[in-house]
Amino acid sequence: MRLTVLGSGASYPAPGRACAGHLVQAGSTSVLLDCGNGVLSNLGRVIDPVTLDGVIVSHGHIDHFADIFALQAALRYAPAGPVPPVPVWLPDGLFGRMQALLGERGARELEEAFLVHEVGPGARIEVGALSVVAHPVEHAMGACAFAIEADGSRLCYTGDTRLGDAVRRAARGAGTVLADATLPEEFAGRAPHMTPAEAGMLAADAGATTLVLTHLWPTVDRAQALADAGSHFGGRVIVADELTALDID
Ligand SMILES: [Zn+2]
Ligand SMILES: [Zn+2]
Repeated sequence: MRLTVLGSGASYPAPGRACAGHLVQAGSTSVLLDCGNGVLSNLGRVIDPVTLDGVIVSHGHIDHFADIFALQAALRYAPAGPVPPVPVWLPDGLFGRMQALLGERGARELEEAFLVHEVGPGARIEVGALSVVAHPVEHAMGACAFAIEADGSRLCYTGDTRLGDAVRRAARGAGTVLADATLPEEFAGRAPHMTPAEAGMLAADAGATTLVLTHLWPTVDRAQALADAGSHFGGRVIVADELTALDID
């Protein structure tokens, strides 16, 4: 299984960066985890977006789905003609809210581009070589973490969440944890997100070998984030950068 960071930022993209988006590939299967602001541009640097096998949206905050509209245009106006509907998994009611931004024609075109599956707690998603389980976490807007398995390896993508038993359950047994690390230490507990130190605690508790810090606040000190996580986790720590790629064992 291979992970490529397409967007490492929280809330709004810092210059040259994008909001939440991570590409997971196994065999010939390519799935996008979140599709935030700026993600489509980076996706196109790795694969042709028309070859995506699916998109999983972790929750209904805009920094996790803003580029779904750009992806729809890329699918509809592909040079070889419109692409068959691409499966998208998202929380109950979110697709309707996306459509509500559009006029009648735009809403219909959005529906034509995607095969919509609403994801509830415990939902299992089978897409090509990937097997994914959704775990509700403590955040907002139907947020889930995802445990993703392929070729005997397991990745946990926390989505957005505070540190708690819910995300600990989702991460248990994952070799690699791709974790929300939004909050600078001085903001710990002030929003339903983790600090890099808490992401380190999560990875240690999960028994992981690798921690990838993502969803970083645009102005965060990334070197400090690395140090904070490393003080709670003895494994490999990577601070996500756009187009960082790693093999998950
Ligand atoms: Zn977010
Ligand atoms: Zn959020």
